[in-house]
Amino acid sequence: MSIFIDDELCTGCGNCVENCAFSGIEIIDNKAIINENCSFCGACLDGCPVNAILIEREEFKIEKIDLSQYRGVWVIAEHYKNIVHPVAFQLLGKGGELAKELGVNLTFVILGADFDDRLEDFSLYGPDKIIYIKSPILKQYYSDLYVEALSDLIIKKKPEIILIGATPTGRDFAPRVAKRLNAGLTADCTGLEIDQNTRNLLQTRPTFGGTLMATIRTPNSRPQMATVRPGIFQSPERMRKKTAIRKIEYNFKEEDLVTKIIKVIDKERSSVNLEEAEIIVAGGRGVGSKENFEMIEELAEVLGAELGGSRVTVELNWLDQDRQIGQTGKTVSPKLYIACGISGAIQHLVGMQNSEIIVAINKDRKAPIFNVAHYGIVGDLHEIVPVLIEEIKKNKNKE
Ligand SMILES: Cc1cc2nc3c(=O)[nH]c(=O)nc-3n(C[C@H](O)[C@H](O)[C@H](O)COP(=O)(O)OP(=O)(O)OC[C@H]3O[C@@H](n4cnc5c(N)ncnc54)[C@H](O)[C@@H]3O)c2cc1C
Repeated sequence: MSIFIDDELCTGCGNCVENCAFSGIEIIDNKAIINENCSFCGACLDGCPVNAILIEREEFKIEKIDLSQYRGVWVIAEHYKNIVHPVAFQLLGKGGELAKELGVNLTFVILGADFDDRLEDFSLYGPDKIIYIKSPILKQYYSDLYVEALSDLIIKKKPEIILIGATPTGRDFAPRVAKRLNAGLTADCTGLEIDQNTRNLLQTRPTFGGTLMATIRTPNSRPQMATVRPGIFQSPERMRKKTAIRKIEYNFKEEDLVTKIIKVIDKERSSVNLEEAEIIVAGGRGVGSKENFEMIEELAEVLGAELGGSRVTVELNWLDQDRQIGQTGKTVSPKLYIACGISGAIQHLVGMQNSEIIVAINKDRKAPIFNVAHYGIVGDLHEIVPVLIEEIKKNKNKE
């Protein structure tokens, strides 16, 4: 891309300088001069009354590939201390649905050192195939090795869809693999569907700070890669299935790597386990104060539930950060979610709308939380919650 100033036309009026947000153009000796800050955005062209600025852009060419060569849905697992992250099984659930719609196989890919005895168990989650990339060094996560081994395999096998957990590990290797393959990658998807006409994967995710949901397609490149946060999809029912297992042994050596793991420091794990909680009682700004939160906590306690809340309650310091639910907090899918004084902003909903049963207590009958709630109680939570606590206690005593 190149940018030119026609000195004969330029009058040095300075409009272009005012239009430029990057200080990429200046007036020297009554003529506009482009400097190294220029981002080629073209804003200066709009400001020039004499059309003295010209940008030459290379024609953007879409490389045509034969999409029909790509078949199959892959889920790539990750693990820590030999425990596979549950998001991998959740993705097998969703991946199975996508594969069925496309009429293709579902493949589970795992890189590791000690999974020989676990492969049968993985097959219960429904994959048609398991590819086990085995090397002693893969006991631990090495970004470079994941990128190298996965890119090679994907180039050879040509899957059309690849699903990866949007965990710190997945967020590390997924974009690197996508870059190597020149493939599209949509991060943090909350919905995945197939467009039956085109076989494209429709990848939905919140955008513009969660105010809009965007559905993204990657129609010209393959594979279509998506990361999904834990808790968005459900793990499938385990069942007996015939699964083809393929083991690929690699002899990776530490000395060949550009990085070396010297020490793994376990961050102190929070005792809060919202992602796996069966019942969550969550409070919002409507709770009114930190002291009032004790009532929400008591409701959680009598129900044997985890306590959660909206971002506002964390910002107000009523609740710890690790209890925030939503786009910038945890994604949860309990059997029962009770929202007390939460309005139901989209950023909150994306984190909890997959809950099996949602009960909302809100004094505003038009609050958006009622659009996703299965049961709604319109009223003041300060009156309703103590009654609920009382009734639950009474019923417990009867048992
Ligand atoms: C980039 C970005 C990321 C975000 N991420 C998150 C996120 O992860 N999680 C999240 O929650 N938010 C997030 N937000 C903030 C989100 O937009 C909302 O501001 C927030 O969810 C609102 O919290 P709330 O429902 O507690 O408060 P409000 O929207 O103020 O709602 C309070 C509700 O309580 C009700 N109420 C008041 N008094 C009572 C009463 N006595 N009895 C019953 N009901 C009562 C009101 O009618 C109202 O509906 C994010 C925003 C942005 C821009």
